[in-house]
Amino acid sequence: MQKVYLYSSLGNALQEFVPLVPNEVSFYVCGPTVYNHPHIGNIRPVIVFDTWRRLFLELGYKVTFVSNYTDVDDKIIARAAELGVSEQELTTSVIKEYEEAVHAVGSMIPDVTPKPTVYMPQIISYIDDLVKTGYAYQSNDGVYFRVSKIKDYGSLSGNTPESLLSGARIEVNEGKESPLDFALWKETSTGIRWETPWCVGRPGWHTECCVMIHSLFPKTNGLIDIHGGGFDLKFPHHENEIAQAEAHNGNHLAHYWLHNGFININNEKMSKSLGNVLLATDVIKMYGGAALRLMILNAHYRAPVSFSEETISEAQKNVKKIETTLKSLVLALQSAGRDLENVKGQGEEEFLHELCQDLNTPNAITILYGEVKNANQLLRTKDVDLDLVEQSFAKIRDYLRILGLPVEIKYLTNSELGLYCQYLEAKQNKDFVESDRLRKILVEGGIL
Ligand SMILES: [Zn+2]
Repeated sequence: MQKVYLYSSLGNALQEFVPLVPNEVSFYVCGPTVYNHPHIGNIRPVIVFDTWRRLFLELGYKVTFVSNYTDVDDKIIARAAELGVSEQELTTSVIKEYEEAVHAVGSMIPDVTPKPTVYMPQIISYIDDLVKTGYAYQSNDGVYFRVSKIKDYGSLSGNTPESLLSGARIEVNEGKESPLDFALWKETSTGIRWETPWCVGRPGWHTECCVMIHSLFPKTNGLIDIHGGGFDLKFPHHENEIAQAEAHNGNHLAHYWLHNGFININNEKMSKSLGNVLLATDVIKMYGGAALRLMILNAHYRAPVSFSEETISEAQKNVKKIETTLKSLVLALQSAGRDLENVKGQGEEEFLHELCQDLNTPNAITILYGEVKNANQLLRTKDVDLDLVEQSFAKIRDYLRILGLPVEIKYLTNSELGLYCQYLEAKQNKDFVESDRLRKILVEGGIL
């Protein structure tokens, strides 16, 4: 098995992947707060971490891939009230839309998609443990985590207590012992809330992910291999997740912490205030899920992605090129009697090698384009070598599967194949009326 190297934000270094349990990968990605339509910023981690997941699966690992939906949040409460629907109605419809986008960009639905509302007893008991061990304390408006108890606080983001306290942007809250302390439980009077020994309210976001990981991976005491998310989650979210895991389980929650970069729109940061937020559904409808995935994977996952009319159109053009080549390959091979559905893949090592180097998708895509070019050259040669064409087809098919690019390979049915052979015959016999007629049918059927 090839070795995988990944760049972990915890330690800021490229590290060799060594799983906690041999041949297994436990993977958790922070999912969206489901209060509004998903935008393309939400879709980047969906694509990036799905590609990581596919790589591990391809290498033969048993992968448990978990990504949550945050379904308790002030934004959900406010939006549901605005729309005049219940919070559950809102989150259910947003999750549906989100999963449609996940599917459209070729990503697999996670093995588990936990939601905090379902884990409330575990969340309350986890907080209770932290209060009992002195890592958390009750205040006038909820329960807070005592950051001063964590010796290496800041190990992920570099935001140490000293640097944070000297910074000017610290919020002041009278109920807290220190401005660095964060809420584990908040007292609330609106929206969905639960009764606890402390007060009626809801959990803090940082606690939810910790508890769900702790509950889903009990065999390793809540320690997982890989934790992923966007760069913006590094601080405070992930830093505070680590602090709680240290307090509760004596570990750093995950061995490797991966963070993906942002998406810029025409070289500007995507933000509501700039009014340039692009909804995933709109982009997918306009350019296709495959083009969006290709555009995102064209950049290394830690680098920023630049979305512009030019970059997405270029990706769309390349998807089209791959589709056209596949169509020609299928026609050439199936009309020669080759059984394509059972062709064995070979020669993926070089391609996988690139992905094993911290998911170098730009280099992997270059290999894919090289193979598409090679296939077209093979098809153009006078005496087509069908064995080489078949190998090339298998490579392209496998590369697409590993990258998760949703480009459909349309195999021909016997009747379609018969029609195509008739067309070739008519052409050869210079029966142009008949060949034009058949050609029209084949084009309409998407075969040519
Ligand atoms: Zn999280």
